[in-house]
Amino acid sequence: MTVELICVGTELLLGNIVNTNAAFIAEKCAMLGLSMYYQSVVGDNPGRLEELLLTAIGRSSVIILCGGLGPTQDDLTKETAARVMRRKLREDQRARREIQEFMEKRGCRITENNWKQAMVPEHARVLYNANGTAPGIIMEEGDTRIILLPGPPNELVPMFEEQVFPYLHKLQPETICSKMVKLCGIGESSAETKILDLIETQTNPTVAPYAKTGEVHLRITAKASCEQEAYALIEPVEQELRNRFGDLIYTDDPDVTLETAVYELLKEKHLTVTTAESCTGGLLAGRLINVPGISAYLKEGYITYSNEAKEKLLGVPAEILREYGAVSPQTAEAMAEGGARAADADLCIAVTGIAGPDGGTSQKPVGLVYMSCYCRGKWYTEKNLYTGSRSKIREYSVAGALTLLRQAIIKQYK
Ligand code: ATP
Repeated sequence: MTVELICVGTELLLGNIVNTNAAFIAEKCAMLGLSMYYQSVVGDNPGRLEELLLTAIGRSSVIILCGGLGPTQDDLTKETAARVMRRKLREDQRARREIQEFMEKRGCRITENNWKQAMVPEHARVLYNANGTAPGIIMEEGDTRIILLPGPPNELVPMFEEQVFPYLHKLQPETICSKMVKLCGIGESSAETKILDLIETQTNPTVAPYAKTGEVHLRITAKASCEQEAYALIEPVEQELRNRFGDLIYTDDPDVTLETAVYELLKEKHLTVTTAESCTGGLLAGRLINVPGISAYLKEGYITYSNEAKEKLLGVPAEILREYGAVSPQTAEAMAEGGARAADADLCIAVTGIAGPDGGTSQKPVGLVYMSCYCRGKWYTEKNLYTGSRSKIREYSVAGALTLLRQAIIKQYK
């Protein structure tokens, strides 16, 4: 069984609204294990909609259309679909009653064109709409099923969840479940190389890598007759990923971010941390402060953009800055040690680099970032070379620093 989606609306074509209905419906169909090979957007034009619908009928068994069920002249989805399916429209008494009640409850005046929404194709199943005036419709003809849904997401989403999802579930008893494993401290291509055999040979479950800023997420997806069975298929693959990546995996919880994982570690080990930032200028402290409860572990942070600030606030020796420059492993280490001392914290994570677009040289190009984590007499220092815009380099530096901080805690306190 294949499903196809057609979203109707000129404002979608013009980019005036984002097609959130498509993302929602596609995700739900994937959960149901339905294969969706085509999605289209068409304007409020009955000729083009008819042409598209006929093409869809020729290649897909379930066609979902959303939008264009409204009361106005340009809302023509229902009329077009009924014509294609050779069905006459008839008035549905319950829909009429509900439209009247809906409008009266809101103190809205009913106009003649409102009754257009009570018209439904003959022999159709009506999906009553508790959140609006346009009912949804299902038409079946042989192996073809056409489902019409209202455009506004606050109407479409509950109608889909409550009425369409169970309908499709009966047609397609398979379900798809997935689990995301999140990694830091490894690039996408290295991660992919390590699991190429799984990616290439596995069909159920499948494993797919997704590159994020400074992270890689691996999605394991399984198809089965029920959720329990799907997760049972996912489990050994997840274990295999854990064997291969070990500590590089920081979570399998969709709600946990890299900063949350760092927070959990600080909490577990009862450690305080501070930040000493140059090129990231507070972004690193900001990411940590995203996490509620971090105040018990992060008491202060330093933005030391100039050399003077590095000397004054962190006690970085002037000779180090003179001899090695502000962007050097020596300065990063001095910043980290000085920050930990100044804040009286167990750990300090320091970042210094060239975010660009100017200021790079052949020896020290734009994107060169040193970071160091100081922890009780020990330094964990790293050199990175990032590419991209100034803001991208700063974002990558923050993700790199959070990763280094996490690795330093794991190594030092294991
Ligand atoms: P109405 O009864 O409100 O006229 P309708 O079924 O005719 O609904 P449209 O007129 O196509 O739907 O769209 C109404 C509104 O619903 C749009 O202005 C937009 O805000 C929202 N909408 C429509 N389609 C989508 C979509 N694909 N994704 C997100 N929002 C949408």
